[in-house]
Amino acid sequence: MTAVPRKDPVAVESEVREKIHLEILKRTGAYHANDHVLLPSGQHTTEYIEKTLVTTEPSFTEGLGAVIAKHFAQWPVDLVLSTGPGALILSHCVARAHPSRPIVVYGSKGLQSGKRRVTLPVEFQRLIREGTKVLLIEDLVSSGTTLNLLINLVEQMRAQVIGIGCLWRRTSVELGGKSVFSLVNRDFPTYDPENCPLCRKGVPLNEEFVHRRHHRRPSSVQEPKDA
Ligand SMILES: [Zn+2]
Repeated sequence: MTAVPRKDPVAVESEVREKIHLEILKRTGAYHANDHVLLPSGQHTTEYIEKTLVTTEPSFTEGLGAVIAKHFAQWPVDLVLSTGPGALILSHCVARAHPSRPIVVYGSKGLQSGKRRVTLPVEFQRLIREGTKVLLIEDLVSSGTTLNLLINLVEQMRAQVIGIGCLWRRTSVELGGKSVFSLVNRDFPTYDPENCPLCRKGVPLNEEFVHRRHHRRPSSVQEPKDA
């Protein structure tokens, strides 16, 4: 009798864990699967992530942050660095759970002449010195541009990037040769409408996410002008 080939237990475990993390993200309402979604680019896809919703459940974010912290627990970390509100919430949770008790600092993202830019406030600059061990945290990694800018920023200050932790990695893009740990590694195909298999099957197109952008404005209030 030939033995039934068994999957590598480590691979099975990480597959199971990834499924659990995906379920957690689904419960935040951020992740939409098995759909037929119109993207702002005009392309169609089967899955969609609403990035701003990913960190809205504190207990989930804390749990996921602790998993990232556990992965990096074997390395000393002085400081956790991120940009953007979602990544900052997650980075707080990672820092809280890391045995080195690192401090948390954050940069801001912007655009200058159509090019992305990452800036570190002056007050934080003295906290990153030569040899400071930095863990970078991101919520969602797509093109990797922001992370590559953060790596440059840290290295410019002669500090050291220990690794990169994130919730969701959509691409296997190179990130300065750094060790990347992501709770979910998953990309989904996008289709031109004329080649979309879901259109061919007659699945109704969900235009909600694009409509929301065009037809709804963010809620805002403004201080009254002087009378
Ligand atoms: Zn389609």
